[in-house]
Amino acid sequence: MKALAKRMMSRTAPTAASLPANILATPLVIPRDRHSISRKQIPEHALKVLYRLHNEGFDAYLVGGCVRDMLLGITPKDFDVATNAKPEQVRNLFRNCRLVGRRFRLAHIVFGRDVIEVATFRGHHTDEEDEHHDDKKSKRNDHGMLVRDNVYGAIEEDAQRRDFTVNALYYNIADFSIVDFAHGVRDIEAGVLRMIGDPIARYREDPVRMLRAVRFATKLNMRLDDSVSKPLKECAPLLQNIPPARLFDEVLKLFAAGKGVANFDMLSDYGLFQQLFPVLKPYLNAPEQPPYQMIRKTFADTDVRIRNDQRITPAYLFAALLWWPLQARMEQLQQEGGFSPIDAMNLAAADVIGRQVQRIAIPKRFTIPAREIWQLQQRMERAKGKRLQSILGHPRCRAAFDFLLLRAATAPAAERIQLQQQAEYWNKLQPQMIPSLDNDAEADSDSPPPQGAQPPRADGEQKRRGRRGGRRRRKPSVAGE
Ligand code: ATP
Ligand code: MG
Repeated sequence: MKALAKRMMSRTAPTAASLPANILATPLVIPRDRHSISRKQIPEHALKVLYRLHNEGFDAYLVGGCVRDMLLGITPKDFDVATNAKPEQVRNLFRNCRLVGRRFRLAHIVFGRDVIEVATFRGHHTDEEDEHHDDKKSKRNDHGMLVRDNVYGAIEEDAQRRDFTVNALYYNIADFSIVDFAHGVRDIEAGVLRMIGDPIARYREDPVRMLRAVRFATKLNMRLDDSVSKPLKECAPLLQNIPPARLFDEVLKLFAAGKGVANFDMLSDYGLFQQLFPVLKPYLNAPEQPPYQMIRKTFADTDVRIRNDQRITPAYLFAALLWWPLQARMEQLQQEGGFSPIDAMNLAAADVIGRQVQRIAIPKRFTIPAREIWQLQQRMERAKGKRLQSILGHPRCRAAFDFLLLRAATAPAAERIQLQQQAEYWNKLQPQMIPSLDNDAEADSDSPPPQGAQPPRADGEQKRRGRRGGRRRRKPSVAGE
């Protein structure tokens, strides 16, 4: 790898003028004998798709994260293909193809449980297109964000639309070379994430790129170029324009894929975490206090579970993150409204979750069990006799017990002893607890990823995929999604 950038590279045809700062006028072509990617690393289905396109006379490349990861020696999560064939042409070549996406039309080639995503090279938006919001192919919203993007183009343009230089590498099936449009290979070697084009403009176009910058930095162990990191604080509020459903997906990639603590630390330093969880903002400036300790320990414990191949559930994660805002609201309701602890918890839960889902659309199948975990905390405090049995038989009992341990470990000094005694009491009852639904893929279909793999499909896709023996939802690959 080290010597890669220094090695000889041939050139392809020049591209148009007015290129983004770090896009090369002529891309570097790194021949097969000068890079480390071998076809042995590429799954059979991806090769099949690449060869079929190639044999039919189309250009076919692996692109994006898979090329980057293979160069870094990481096993890619998925293999994406880019081609000059239009989606309809791709469909005509594969019986097992379906076209998906409105904002981004993509072809999915389905091999049982495996799906290879094939995207047609995306082109530039002309100024007229940008001005005419009713354009059929591309569309921006009032914040300048791309909400539809079906303008096709040449590979050079496709490369310019990608986010980071390390994500704009193409593996060409025609000659097994790597085509590098923006010194991505050099940046991989240097361990630095650089944006293609002006970072501020690219954040405006799609603010999720800020979250991606942090995620790639921690996942790939790279540093952010100054130009990428400097505008983050100021641009962070742009995240308010992102649909909460998309942010939910991003939050899982950030916190349920093994790098939770690192992402939390970096996101809060840049003021991005505060945008995702505004209700936690008051706690972030007091790292020695129990709320902060509980948030960070939640991420740390989740990372450990993922490392150990144990299942995790977003329900537990959100229950833990929102516990202290819940306590604050409960206290207020009890003091000002005279509510009982049980009523106060119900009202506060609705209130805190209601505020959080305005930013991150946590599906009900996770908020409901999160509330059950909270309610069980109250019930575990004073359970005896028959009630004890009903708690032990509760599908969330195990998760609630883990939660109690988390609280005991991070509680304010005044409550710590009492919580530890409670935890000790329930610890003895552990053998009587029924297996937790939270740890059951059947329940939430959010089994944890093996290391380096995708975060749990918190939208229930895994279960559906399993049953139908097929489809998985894929996000579109480039820009403004
Ligand atoms: P990983 O799959 O490990 O999260 P990835 O780089 O493959 O990383 P994907 O979200 O799968 O990320 O996207 C595939 C490729 O599509 C990226 O490598 C990048 O080239 C492009 N891409 C994805 N999202 C964006 C975006 N918001 N803006 C610009 N390009 C993007
Ligand atoms: Mg990917």
